[in-house]
Amino acid sequence: VQENAFVQLLQSLTANDTAGLLHGIGDDAAVLRGNDQDWVVTTDLIADGSHFLSHEVTPEHIGRKAMAVNLSDIAAMAAKPVAAFVSLLLPSETTNEYAELVMKSIIEIGREFDCPVAGGDTNTWAGKLAINVLILGKTTPRGPLLRSTAQPGDWLLVTGELGGSLTGHHLDFTPRINEALLLNERYELSAGMDLSDGLAMDVRRMCQMSNCGAEILLDELPISRATKQQTSDRGQQVARAIGDGEDFELLLAVAPTEAKRILQDQPLDVPITNVGICVAETGVWQIEDGQRLPLPVTGYEHGTK
Ligand SMILES: [Mg+2]
Repeated sequence: VQENAFVQLLQSLTANDTAGLLHGIGDDAAVLRGNDQDWVVTTDLIADGSHFLSHEVTPEHIGRKAMAVNLSDIAAMAAKPVAAFVSLLLPSETTNEYAELVMKSIIEIGREFDCPVAGGDTNTWAGKLAINVLILGKTTPRGPLLRSTAQPGDWLLVTGELGGSLTGHHLDFTPRINEALLLNERYELSAGMDLSDGLAMDVRRMCQMSNCGAEILLDELPISRATKQQTSDRGQQVARAIGDGEDFELLLAVAPTEAKRILQDQPLDVPITNVGICVAETGVWQIEDGQRLPLPVTGYEHGTK
């Protein structure tokens, strides 16, 4: 199973099932119509061997990550978390103490973002540890931030820094909930998503949903300190910044005048950088040393062929 193609298949299979649904499969979360409030729902599963290695990281790190990746998807919609539902699938030899440490760290990061654990399930089996989290969130009066509403001419902005997540960032990142809420309230944002699989992969997903293309300014990428420590080769740094994945920063499309205002204000504790522009022509290009070339398809896609 290959993730991008599978998601497209599911989109087509569910295209007509739209009762009560404002936005279904294809965004960071679904948007459900409520009476006086719209709701967002997201769910993400992490598993030993794929998203973490249980013999290398602590149960606290695992629990934190399970919750944080889902909070990041709520941030991607510029929504407020309301409650989380956590299902644990534990190897049969797991001790109570271990399971407790996992859950305590889930509850703790939930508290940081006003997102109590409200339910879930626990099972054991002969396989490895897997954790599924579902988070319910609510939209703010400015509405949800969608992937599908980027416009040609919009500037592409990212929060924070990119690349090198495997050195530790993928376990201890801060979901950009507060940053997304602040930006969506103060500024007119066209579109947004969180960067889970690398800028090169994720900008393609935004473009696909918005029926546009993008040019990425490789010389402007905010390359993380971790990446710079890993390699001094500029080409390698760029490859890592766009391809490593698990940055869990925000990618935003914003009309130029508003984007300039954000870049001028720098209203967050982390930098906001202009990394490109949306264009009408579909496809994704890289601009480097004034040269425009197709951006190679890198980034992390779950699954194998
Ligand atoms: Mg996402």
